[in-house]
Amino acid sequence: MADVETFGKALEYAPSRESTAIVSIKPRYDLFIGGKFVEPKSGTRFTTINPATEEPLAEVAEAGPEDVDRAVKAARKAFPKWSGLPASERAKVVYRIARLLQERAREFAVLETLDGGKPIKESRDVDVPLAAAHFFYYAGWADKLEWAFANRRPRAIGVVGQVIPWNFPLLMAAWKLAPALATGNTVVLKPAETTPLTALLLAEVLQEAEVPPGVVNIVTGAGATGSALVSHPGVDKVAFTGSTGVGRAIQVALAGTGKRLTLELGGKAANIVFEDAAIDQAVEGIINGIFFNQGHVCCAGSRLLVQESVQDLVLDKLRRRMETLRVGDPLDKNTDVGAINSAAQLDRISELVDAGTAEGGEVWQPTCPVPDKGFWFLPTLISNVAQSHRVVREEIFGPVLSVLTFRTPEEAIAKANNTAYGLSAGVWTEKGSKMLMVANQLKAGVVWSNTFNQFDPSSPFGGFKESGFGREGGIHGLEPYVELEPIK
Ligand code: NAD
Ligand code: MN
Repeated sequence: MADVETFGKALEYAPSRESTAIVSIKPRYDLFIGGKFVEPKSGTRFTTINPATEEPLAEVAEAGPEDVDRAVKAARKAFPKWSGLPASERAKVVYRIARLLQERAREFAVLETLDGGKPIKESRDVDVPLAAAHFFYYAGWADKLEWAFANRRPRAIGVVGQVIPWNFPLLMAAWKLAPALATGNTVVLKPAETTPLTALLLAEVLQEAEVPPGVVNIVTGAGATGSALVSHPGVDKVAFTGSTGVGRAIQVALAGTGKRLTLELGGKAANIVFEDAAIDQAVEGIINGIFFNQGHVCCAGSRLLVQESVQDLVLDKLRRRMETLRVGDPLDKNTDVGAINSAAQLDRISELVDAGTAEGGEVWQPTCPVPDKGFWFLPTLISNVAQSHRVVREEIFGPVLSVLTFRTPEEAIAKANNTAYGLSAGVWTEKGSKMLMVANQLKAGVVWSNTFNQFDPSSPFGGFKESGFGREGGIHGLEPYVELEPIK
């Protein structure tokens, strides 16, 4: 086996930077309410930066309570007409959103990368196409809803308040908006404060797609804006994706209000590699599982569980592969790992990795250089850890993989389930019976078999335990957005 360092250096590429000419970023952005961009009554704005350069990109309106109120009222006003439209008319509108996203895909991909720091190859090949796919998928359901629920008639709930995170800004907007619109609800959406720009570009697409005014309203701001939205009495249903801490606070705030709620929170997924797995394929799956999107992925495979008999082999191959990862300019098409989304997130990752070292973990990182400016964290492997260590229990939400071992399938299952979370898991084995036996016992919303991080709009996604409740995607993803009446 070639020595780790020379192998990594052997693959050299010339920089191949995506042009940013396709995107025109405005100096300042207003709120999108009632189909128009309006100045915030709050009078305040915040700056969104490019985390790869630390340079400011734009000033964005910060919605105060009076702005949120205005947006909720606009959504309420639009509800009767939108929910009363023939379903095929709603479908047309949602299909138009999907097609316009495809037409403007490059623009969205570049903007997503500039505002959030993710590699262009991911925003181009994953985020934007999947966002369009979600609108296509749910557009298809709009006029078939009466067949989706046996013996029950669905109807729209009303005004939906949606709060989304910064790791997949456009994609999370699509996951939230597509099922809500297809089922006839109206929406107030709050993007995350570090990544508001693609949602605001989406507002332009909504105008172009002739989404009626008030059907989708977009209010930018931070936690206070999100809090004002979810606790607004005019909101009938809340959908939240983000941290377990905030999810818990929202559940407390909503208790007793009668509002419907779905939560998609954190995770600490086990990626289980058996000795009979196709090892090279498993190594690719481990890499994809934890380093995709800098590990800013709720379903990231952040706990590697490797069978003791192949531990050395797997870790050798993994280190070799990690040496080939390119960390740096997210606009470079060869970049594998981009910028950490914010200084605050970088601090959280560093603090947890330091805690891992203090608890006796062995930290290993490749030798890849990183740019001087911007927020960076090298792909990291932490071995010699126990299940009680913070780096094994807590969600790091960064490019950090903790390594545990096991001897028997029973031990693997017990360790995999030994977590407060339960969003996803991966199992690597060539033996079908073992795959099914293990998958059936994992308490996780999604179990990937000899793969990881595969997403499809027709497949439901969501958590067990502290990873939240409710499903997004598939026929299951319609249910949170409808009231169901028995058909007599
Ligand atoms: P967060 O939960 O604070 O933010 C997510 C969204 O919620 C943002 O839009 C934010 O403005 C909003 N928000 C914050 N406080 C709110 C409140 N009280 N009421 C309503 N909305 C509120 O997440 P974060 O601080 O950006 O990230 C911290 C951790 O959250 C990460 O380390 C990670 O563990 C987790 N996280 C998970 C996901 C996921 O996809 N499940 C996404 C992002 C972050
Ligand atoms: Mn930003």
